[in-house]
Amino acid sequence: MSRVAIVTGGTRGIGEAISLALRDAGMTVAANYAGNEAKAKEFSDRTGIKAYRWDVGDHQACLDGCAQVASDLGPVDVLVNNAGITRDGVLQKMSFDDWNEVIRVNLGGCFNMAKAVFPGMRERGWGRIVNIGSINGQAGQYGQVNYAAAKSGIHGFTKALAQEGAKFGVTVNALAPGYIDTDMVAAVPPQVLEKIVAKIPVGRLGHAEEIARGVAFLCAEDGGFITGSTLSLNGGQHMY
Ligand code: NDP
Repeated sequence: MSRVAIVTGGTRGIGEAISLALRDAGMTVAANYAGNEAKAKEFSDRTGIKAYRWDVGDHQACLDGCAQVASDLGPVDVLVNNAGITRDGVLQKMSFDDWNEVIRVNLGGCFNMAKAVFPGMRERGWGRIVNIGSINGQAGQYGQVNYAAAKSGIHGFTKALAQEGAKFGVTVNALAPGYIDTDMVAAVPPQVLEKIVAKIPVGRLGHAEEIARGVAFLCAEDGGFITGSTLSLNGGQHMY
């Protein structure tokens, strides 16, 4: 039996690696994305994985998008809430819109997507949800009150939903990456990045594939006893 998985933000960066890892684990994968059509097309053409465009911050769009995936591929067994954005700035300079947008997408997206697929998983007695948090949600980060709050919220959301899913075969876990070499980190100024890398005990940025391996582990068929946990993959930068 092939499990059906949705990976939000699954066409590039960490999400792309997760989509490929779940496919390699035998799942049928639907990769969601926000609007980068060129990248989504290149990804789909190269991998054969179907890409679906919707905004995870839009509640109705998530319900409609997940219904479309279920109609195309079958009931959704696995959800990876990976889509995320940054709108950095110190509090004095951060606009309300920058606060709101990051909470809406990064945290609201997890709620919207879980609302769409959790009831079916519960009914069928099996499901895996993995929410991508962040080291900056665990430790905080200068210039990121919005992002740190959203990611920290994801860790609470995970533990609460894990309790609701436990009796029904639905596990809910978080994975907190450290700094990974994706477009998101490429946007960090080089002099800041240099200081960050100096604080990573393994002495380098992580690779998206290293995060994807952790997600595949949490989504495994025999992973039923792992729930409500946070897997921290950060090169030793924050030992939580
Ligand atoms: P990228 O910026 O490289 O990719 C982000 C992905 O999310 C893209 O596929 C993008 O779609 C999608 N996306 C953004 N907004 C939305 C939205 N509203 N609806 C649907 N999809 C959306 O990010 P990373 O791969 O670096 O990060 C992935 C996750 O890992 C994020 O949650 C991030 O916060 C987290 N993380 C990353 C770290 C890092 O060092 N890179 C460290 C810790 C956590 P599109 O291509 O269409 O724009």
